[in-house]
Amino acid sequence: MRYSKFLIPTLREDPAEAEVASHRLMLRAGMIRKLAAGIYSTLPLGERVIKKTAQIVREEMNRAGALEVTLPFVQPAELWQESGRWNVYGKEMLRLKDRNDREFCLGPTHEEVITNLVKGVISSYKQLPVNLYQIHTKFRDEIRPRFGVMRAREFIMKDAYSFDTDEEGAEKSYRHMYDAYCRIFERLGLKFRAVEADTGPIGGNFSHEFMVLADTGEDVIVACSNCDYAANMEKAEIKPPDDPEKNNIDLKKTERVETPNIKTVDEVTAFLRVSPSKLIKTLVFSCDDGHIVALVRGDHEINEVKLRNFIGCDNVLLADEDLVEELTHAPRGFAGPVGLKDVKIIADFGLKGGTNFVSGGNEKDIHIMNVNFDRDFSVTRFGDIRCAGDGDPCPRCGQVLETKRGIEVGHIFKLGTKYSRSMNATYLDPGGEPNHMVMGCYGIGIGRTAAAAIEQSHDENGIIFPESIAPFSVLVLPVDTTEKIQMEIAEKIYRELTAGGIDVLLDDRDERPGIKFKDADMIGVPLRLTVGRNAVKGNNVDIKSRKTGEIRQVPVEDAVSAVVESLGESS
Ligand SMILES: [Zn+2]
Repeated sequence: MRYSKFLIPTLREDPAEAEVASHRLMLRAGMIRKLAAGIYSTLPLGERVIKKTAQIVREEMNRAGALEVTLPFVQPAELWQESGRWNVYGKEMLRLKDRNDREFCLGPTHEEVITNLVKGVISSYKQLPVNLYQIHTKFRDEIRPRFGVMRAREFIMKDAYSFDTDEEGAEKSYRHMYDAYCRIFERLGLKFRAVEADTGPIGGNFSHEFMVLADTGEDVIVACSNCDYAANMEKAEIKPPDDPEKNNIDLKKTERVETPNIKTVDEVTAFLRVSPSKLIKTLVFSCDDGHIVALVRGDHEINEVKLRNFIGCDNVLLADEDLVEELTHAPRGFAGPVGLKDVKIIADFGLKGGTNFVSGGNEKDIHIMNVNFDRDFSVTRFGDIRCAGDGDPCPRCGQVLETKRGIEVGHIFKLGTKYSRSMNATYLDPGGEPNHMVMGCYGIGIGRTAAAAIEQSHDENGIIFPESIAPFSVLVLPVDTTEKIQMEIAEKIYRELTAGGIDVLLDDRDERPGIKFKDADMIGVPLRLTVGRNAVKGNNVDIKSRKTGEIRQVPVEDAVSAVVESLGESS
């Protein structure tokens, strides 16, 4: 491809609206342009990156035995009413009516459509298992679209759905997808972790998220420093402590102290000069059947998802001021476990074995010093209900957990029979009996993955693409296009590389070298081959690695083989 014939509208300045590196760089490199909030056009350079990303995903899905289909983007309401999700999906679903007043939505996901399709074409166990996927548009009306294509409303996603005869088969399909995802992100050249995830409102009973590691990532993941345990913050477990030794620790006398308008952990610990780890945070939640009290250490954070799962409630909501006051007879900030009646108290494992804590006094402007378990109050159960953090023990091996930041680019779920039951997708078993198919679903955000690659790999000069998804593998850059011999050498190298099946961009623009070098760095092409005065005089060209910045001189006649060799090394 010739630069002069290609459209790469690079920007010299940082666009004001871009908050993260990938958004800023995709705009500056001329890959995307915004049409409306969360809705982007992809320009030719961006299109090449997206297409290469999608192609790797496609190849690995095919290798895993999945079959490509295309499902409609516009979906009738009836399907969603059948699955029971039309009324629960909320405002993320963009709904519309056709000329006959029939209701539709723009597909935010495709479980309903695929289940409907499969139940119409599959009737026997002999046709199972099957895994169908598409690489296609989705629309989710995000409340706050931002970060460019990272959190867009309209986006390209690979979504796959597996159908099996039983749980064992579904487990196998899930494993196949897990392995395929690992291969995909390895081939994409990304540093990633597969983390255990909470299944959340999509339902189902098991799931993993694939996180590209990047300091700027929105998600926090917790990973073991020793084994391969990793989970997202909502899910990450902490190894329960051993039972504390019963030695004669001095239990001090309780003391009620005045703490006028001192409410937060910081305020209380500063005022009473105690460490946050000696404070009991008392939190009131309303749940399915009334309310409960949760206790965590002052230096720990409650994890509402873990609490919800621990007590087995669908909904757990931090209580409002009125409920706190009704239960504790004190305003928020002064709640404590001592004297609470007729309420379940769940205490985090982190408090177990500790003594002489500080807690709220259930009275305005009062805290209690030297509060002790069993002597002063009792808890219903201890459990793992706090957020895991740096230094907590791994649930698998007991070694130290670490937190890292990541960007979620893929998610795989075991769905069970949630959709096959509600939409009655059955097959006949060998005995002629109808059974519900067991499903799984598997997504990868294509644009998001490309953006995550940029987020993980860039510098102050621009993008540093992994070779697998770089828009071009090599940029051939004649320094002075008016110099006939320079251009002849550049053209020859360009022709030979192109003939060798390599994606080459020839910067044949009559621009100042500074501009050409700047653009080359910005668009992140892995190798830059510079043909300058030295090519004519000394018969040498420069090959520069975008990633390492390393430049080496090679004789003109060896240029092509040196490029081919370098590309082989980096892939
Ligand atoms: Zn571990």
